[in-house]
Amino acid sequence: MVDKRPAAIAYCSNADDVVSAVTFARSQAVPISVRAGGHNVAGSCVCEGGLVIDVSRMKVISIDTSERTVRAEAGLTLGEFDTATQRFGLATTMGVNSDTGVSGLTLGGGLGWLMAKYGLAADNLLAVEMYRWSDGSYLEDQDFWRLSGIERPVYLYATPKIEMRDFTVTAAISSARRS
Ligand SMILES: Cc1cc2nc3c(=O)[nH]c(=O)nc-3n(C[C@H](O)[C@H](O)[C@H](O)COP(=O)(O)OP(=O)(O)OC[C@H]3O[C@@H](n4cnc5c(N)ncnc54)[C@H](O)[C@@H]3O)c2cc1C
Repeated sequence: MVDKRPAAIAYCSNADDVVSAVTFARSQAVPISVRAGGHNVAGSCVCEGGLVIDVSRMKVISIDTSERTVRAEAGLTLGEFDTATQRFGLATTMGVNSDTGVSGLTLGGGLGWLMAKYGLAADNLLAVEMYRWSDGSYLEDQDFWRLSGIERPVYLYATPKIEMRDFTVTAAISSARRS
């Protein structure tokens, strides 16, 4: 269905790899695209003749249980995110398919199971670490809403900080059975 051929794919393991990939692509004057979960059906994560920056191996997640926030690297899938956060009885709105990428989903708004109560995935974003595509420079804790309306290729969205809610699946199931 998607018939595009990038010149190369840079599999990034960490932020330094991302910066090197952006810098290299700029030096070669080739287009860049970013692949996270690879779930966009139109294949928008693949560019023709350019460099695909594949962040799917960047999976560090840090969970602050007292603040109830999570920092999730761009390569986490929803399933990996939910598995990690559920250990602490925390959850937030994510999509229904566990292979989807957290970063692509939140960039698109993010519709999911908990949205009736907590809004879209993007509504729960507190801040975002990102890189400027023009030179790979790092920008810490940007306000996500300031980016709305700006074309996606201006920034590479790296590590969102997400507000979490107390939620345990077992408790929800047993209370549903009781009622
Ligand atoms: C079977 C299926 C079920 C779905 N279910 C839901 C659902 O329940 N709820 C919902 O809201 N959506 C759903 N979607 C849509 C999905 O959330 C979007 O297609 C989303 O953009 C996929 O994100 P990804 O990271 O997996 O995909 P990718 O294809 O990797 O990325 C999607 C787009 O975001 C860009 N992007 C990704 N990561 C970054 C980054 N770090 N920095 C800059 N740009 C980036 C890519 O370049 C691309 O343009 C579903 C899609 C499918 C195919």
